[in-house]
Order: sequence, then structure tokens, then C-alpha cells
Amino acid sequence: MTGKKFNPATQIQKLGNFGEFGGVNPSITDSSTFTFLTAKTMLDTFHGESEGCFLYSRHWNPSNKYLADALAAMEGTEAAWVTGSGMGAITTAILQLCNSGDHIVTSVTTYGGTYAFLKNYLPKFNIDVSFVNISDLAQVEAAIQANTKLVYTESLTNPLLQVSDIPSLSEIARKHDVKLVVDNTFTPMILSPFILGADIVVYSMTKFINGKNDTIAGAICASNDFIAAISDVNSGTAMLLGPVLDSLRSSSILKNLHTLHIRMIQHSKNAMYLAQRFKEIGLKFEYPGMPEHPDHELFNSIRNEEFGYGGMIALDLKTAERAASLMELMQERGVGYHAVSLGYFKTLFSNPGKSTSSEVPEEIQRDMGMSPGLVRFSVGLDHDIENTYKLIHSCLIDME
Ligand SMILES: *Cc1c(COP(=O)(O)O)cnc(C)c1O
Repeated sequence: MTGKKFNPATQIQKLGNFGEFGGVNPSITDSSTFTFLTAKTMLDTFHGESEGCFLYSRHWNPSNKYLADALAAMEGTEAAWVTGSGMGAITTAILQLCNSGDHIVTSVTTYGGTYAFLKNYLPKFNIDVSFVNISDLAQVEAAIQANTKLVYTESLTNPLLQVSDIPSLSEIARKHDVKLVVDNTFTPMILSPFILGADIVVYSMTKFINGKNDTIAGAICASNDFIAAISDVNSGTAMLLGPVLDSLRSSSILKNLHTLHIRMIQHSKNAMYLAQRFKEIGLKFEYPGMPEHPDHELFNSIRNEEFGYGGMIALDLKTAERAASLMELMQERGVGYHAVSLGYFKTLFSNPGKSTSSEVPEEIQRDMGMSPGLVRFSVGLDHDIENTYKLIHSCLIDME
């Protein structure tokens, strides 16, 4: 990287792909299958021995390749593969790495669907999972066993916004010859997990990367070897379970990816503004951009500075009833929408205990430090965030 700091936005910009007829955007693939001029090339392609040939869209197609190449550039990985959902990316990566009888060490705070997959689904395959506090590095290392295949975490955990110490986790993983898999859904561009030492980076592109809440999609960014392994026609998890992204969606997401850097800066700027105002009026909340956040220094030491601290704030209203009345009032007064998901241009808010983390049993939610009155904000791209704050403030005053 010629001594210069890695910058995900400039990596994408350098790609400069355009369409085969000179269109400024790459042409969209509208085919599930592809023709071959010779029988031999088709056979070679089946065996993964022909460069640049497309066989069948569940395997690869040009639109998915354009998007995958852009994501690989953003992460600094050799390759990437795009999936029909974030869960498709997470489950593919995990099932590729593990066989029956293997073991996983994971952060206990993860996306609810990921938690449910690790906790309820993997036992079907006799894959054992240890849930740890990912900030306690000694606990992480102590949980690794002879049959451990991977350590799993989210760079910024959902919903408590704990920052994973990716460089230290990577050191531990390498020492024990296990893979570090990081879900970077909350912090695209802000954190570059692969550059920090992760082996595999997974995304729900449904969130910030696409940013429009018009589709579900995911991605796996990793080495050429890993991407070749998941797409192998005889044994690849992606090829055989088939969670591929549709090519029309790929081309749409690629266009949105090109504005991601600007959006991340604005999400971060607006969230920081709200966090500062929340602090002034003495609210209890988590935002990793505030010096009071326990992982603030760690975040500063690993983030790509110019993109800020992200758009997520977790506000603690103590009880589910108070959280509900604040959210109802905020929606009524136009702060944003009471909806799950994140990374949208409008502000979204939800109570994780009653929604996205409801898969996590209540006593574990308590152990995680998750308050029943948590309101998770995904701060939007509002032009006038000062006015948004005034609206939130009026709701806080008027709620019962
Ligand atoms: C939404 C989300 C997922 C799941 O992604 P889908 O696109 O909904 O399948 C995984 N991890 C995190 C952190 C998420 O926010």
C-alpha cells in the first residue's frame, strides 16, 4: 500500500468500470445462463480452469462480478462474492469453514439472526458454539479449543455498539490457527476489518452499503482461495446452497455503493450532533464517538478517520413502555420511522429487546447489558439535524 493509509473510498473510485457499449454504468446481466463457442471451454469452466468465462448465474455473472470487485477493492481483499441477504453471507462463510464436530467462538452480542443461527441452528450439524464477551480478550483466547475453526464478531456490535479490537483478536486467531470472521455491517468505510487483520469480512448490504431500504443483500470479502472454495461447483457452500444475489439488484447496489463515502460522513456528522445534544441534557446513551464511551480510544486507534464514528446511537429509556411512547411520538412528529433496519436516508428507530434482538433470551439480554428500554437510532442524512434534535427534544418532554 506504498506507505499511504488505506482509503476504502479511493479504492472504489480507482476501479472506473463502464459498460460494453460505453455506458457510464456497467451493462446489466439479464441472463441466468451463458453460451460457449467450444465444448472444451465449457468443461474447463466447470472445473474452474477458464479465466473470465461465465457459466451460470448462481455461480457468477458479470453484474455480480462488478459489484464483488468493487467490494473487494473497498475492503482491500483479493476477492468477494455477493449474496441475496446478509444472513446468506454469514451462514455461507460459517458453513464453509466448519464441519460437523467443529467449534466456534463468538461474541455474545451479535445481530439477532446471527445469534439464532449460532445458538439454535448449528447444533443440527453438531457444531458447538461458545458465546463470550468479545471485549475480554483473555476470555476469547481461553474459549478456543483444538477443534475451533473461527472467531466471530461484529466490528461494532448490535445493539450495544461495543467496538471489537480487531487487531488483537486477529493476533489471537493467528496464534491458534483459526479464522477471524468480522461482520462490518454497521461501519463500512469507517473500519476496514481485513486491513486490521480479519480473514473474512461479511456484510448485510441491506443496510448502509445500499442505503435505500429497497432490497435485501449481503457480501463476503475474502481471499481468492476462499471465494473460489465457496463457489466451487462440487463442494462450495455458496454454489450448493445457492444464496446468490440477483444481477438486477447487483447493478442497482453498485450505483449506490459509489455514494457510500458521502453518506457515511453525513450519517456520522448527524449522529455526533445528536450525541452531543443528548449529553448536554443528561440522557443515558451509547455512541462510540463520545469520549465517555468505553471503547472510544480503541475506536480512534483503528478507524479510517474521515468517515466519523457512524450513524448508530443507542439511547436508554430504562423501560420498554417509555421507549415505546418516545418512538410513537417521534414518528408522529416526523423525526423518522419506527422500523427495524438501519443505514437508511431517513432516521429509523426501534427497541432491540422487542425486535431485532428478540431472538436473544431476556436473561442473556440482561447479561449483555441490554436495557429493556433501549431505543436504537440509525440517524439519517437529515440536512437540518438541529431541527431534528428539537423535534426529539419536544418528544422527550411530552412523552408520558
Ligand atoms: C441486518 C443485519 C444482518 C442480516 O442481514 P440481512 O440482509 O437482513 O440478511 C446481519 N448482521 C447485522 C449486523 C445486521 O444489521
